[in-house]
Amino acid sequence: MFELTPEQKDIKQAVREFAEGEFREVARMLDENGAFDESLWKKAAELGLLGVFVEEKYGGAGLGYLEHSIICEELARVDCGIAHSITSTFFGTQLISLIGSEEQKKKYLTPVCKGEAKMGVAITEPDAGSDVASIKTTAKKVGDEYVISGNKTFITNANRADFLIVLCITNPDAKKKHERFSTLIVETNRPGYEANKIKNKLSIRCSDTGEVTFKDVTVPKENLLGEEGKGFYNIMEFLNRSRLEAAGFGVGTAQGALEKAMDHVKKRKQFGVPLADSPVVQTKIAEMATLVEAARSLLYCTSDKVDRGEMDHALIAMTKWYAAEIAVKVSDEAIQLHGGYGIIEEYDVAHYWRDAKVLEIFEGTKEVEKLIIGRRLLGK
Ligand SMILES: Cc1cc2nc3c(=O)[nH]c(=O)nc-3n(C[C@H](O)[C@H](O)[C@H](O)COP(=O)(O)OP(=O)(O)OC[C@H]3O[C@@H](n4cnc5c(N)ncnc54)[C@H](O)[C@@H]3O)c2cc1C
Repeated sequence: MFELTPEQKDIKQAVREFAEGEFREVARMLDENGAFDESLWKKAAELGLLGVFVEEKYGGAGLGYLEHSIICEELARVDCGIAHSITSTFFGTQLISLIGSEEQKKKYLTPVCKGEAKMGVAITEPDAGSDVASIKTTAKKVGDEYVISGNKTFITNANRADFLIVLCITNPDAKKKHERFSTLIVETNRPGYEANKIKNKLSIRCSDTGEVTFKDVTVPKENLLGEEGKGFYNIMEFLNRSRLEAAGFGVGTAQGALEKAMDHVKKRKQFGVPLADSPVVQTKIAEMATLVEAARSLLYCTSDKVDRGEMDHALIAMTKWYAAEIAVKVSDEAIQLHGGYGIIEEYDVAHYWRDAKVLEIFEGTKEVEKLIIGRRLLGK
């Protein structure tokens, strides 16, 4: 089993206490209302949980992806929607840290890590989900500016963010299809930016998801992130890091559902004895716990490799797919062990299961993750 350092264990414990103390009471209410409580994000910022992998000189903690994975795990153990609402405020700092200019790092990373600004990443469009290269949003160079037109959908923080990293077509005539794209930083208060909230989601309901329209939104050329024509590759590099976040949510959600199931089977009596006395129930709990432990070991091991500069894309895809899948399986079994009570929201296991499902969809669907793994293994 992967052994955390004493400092990493301290972080895990501190985040667990934070999430237990601040989320447990409000999680169901925020989920029902489909709205986040921004004071939780502020408290997370005060604790230094935002962008921990960002260098200290830009306001981060200068730690690694392993620490970030542990934080995601512990936040999602109590509530995945709140976890996502907090960590999505710095979703994209991975990319700015990797390829941003010195000015961009100072301007955008520092306020986000301090909890003074929120950001997001806008890739997906109504007709371009898994097939990222089929996006249509354009950014035309006019003098020293880019003029952006198009529509994005399913954008986390569309209605909350101060700025988004937007994938656009800047070089439509490039010979290679994947060299047509660039990433631009777009402030959401620029004229022509419009966002709508997507309501009544199945999962992570308190997290903001929206549709965005860019009607001739103008940004200066200084807002180009990385090189022109490299946007597609930038986004793929970004996803390789951000997938670990979804994997962390998977491990945490599965752990939270497992604990709910264990509590229930110890208390609930049938045939005169607690359910926990039944070998069938014991076997189910054993299987659930083993899946969680396997996903956690994979998560820690992969995150540690990324921190050591070993970018194994297939291993990252395995970690994200597996953690998401076991989160669905474990929360499904947690409902089963609750019997009829499992489908009542008051018992929370249905909430874990609903939240787990989205982890198989965003940051690359499980089918796409398996394609990445298969292609890499077969050298395609
Ligand atoms: C809550 C939420 C938050 C999100 N946040 C963001 C965000 O912040 N920024 C952003 O840009 N996007 C975001 N997304 C979008 C997300 O990344 C996409 O939903 C995801 O990439 C899948 O795209 P799609 O929904 O268009 O599904 P599709 O691509 O249409 O896929 C539908 C189904 O077909 C399968 N499929 C597709 N292609 C293949 C293939 N070649 N072979 C086999 N099967 C295939 C998929 O696996 C899936 O099962 C978010 C989505 C959700 C639900």
